[in-house]
Amino acid sequence: MNIVSKKNLELLIFIIALALLSWAGFNYFTKNLEEQISTEISFNHSDDPKLILLVPGHDHESYGGKFRELKEEQLTRELAREIAKLLEADGRFKIVTTRDFETGDYTDEFSDFFASSETQIIHFKESAKKAMSALLATGGIVREEAVIEHNLVTADTGFRLYGINKWANDKKVDLALHIHFNDYPRDDMKVVGKYVGFAMYVPEDQFGNSQTSQDIAQKLYNSLDNVTATSTFPLESGGIIKSQDLIAVGANNSQTHPAVLVEYGYMYEPDYYIADRRTKSLPRLARATHKGLVDYFYKK
Ligand SMILES: [Zn+2]
Repeated sequence: MNIVSKKNLELLIFIIALALLSWAGFNYFTKNLEEQISTEISFNHSDDPKLILLVPGHDHESYGGKFRELKEEQLTRELAREIAKLLEADGRFKIVTTRDFETGDYTDEFSDFFASSETQIIHFKESAKKAMSALLATGGIVREEAVIEHNLVTADTGFRLYGINKWANDKKVDLALHIHFNDYPRDDMKVVGKYVGFAMYVPEDQFGNSQTSQDIAQKLYNSLDNVTATSTFPLESGGIIKSQDLIAVGANNSQTHPAVLVEYGYMYEPDYYIADRRTKSLPRLARATHKGLVDYFYKK
């Protein structure tokens, strides 16, 4: 091999190496570009919609609050229907509701689930309680006293709420949104009360699902704050209240997925108990809820 051909060979190797390098570089660049495009596409037209479980608070067995003829269970599903309408029209959310908006009955999905999974739900509830006791005993979780005492729930209601948590865990929901309206004990429950406004409940910091739940709640809070007042009830003045006790947001660490409970307002506020006014007030709350969810899930 003479000197020239050796040089030629070196040149050839150099050219091949250069070609390989630029091919790899180009590939890397296009791959990045592809990734960028695909995240943008999924950002704009997500093909895996966010799974939102709507839980219109209470049911026919235990209707929650009542003001004059209006029961809370009805008000919560009227609002849930408005929220579902907007989220479904958006296209980036998949909506499941625990109760039928019209009849107020549990949907087939949930009544079947409560019936067919009764043993598993009871086991789920008991093991969550045991695990929590163990964590409290070892200091894994420190007990935080409730800011507000909530009405104790009956065994049936407790069973259904734990059932809903289990369902939400099994289906890996992106959010379980519990919809409620507030009330408070006073001498004459037929008279309009003195507090107004909304408040939210989230899992306390030490719970597994607390961070995401609190982040979602903050976006919902910011959005609702534009259309309605924060609760004027002194113990709710913080707006977002952390709880270890509400089953809905994962008492006993029973909810591994994000959960937020919103008390959208007081039942006796004219905007809510007067039917004619609800045609405006509920869509307004629904739009704010939709915006809060879009802000959290699609505007990071
Ligand atoms: Zn309620």
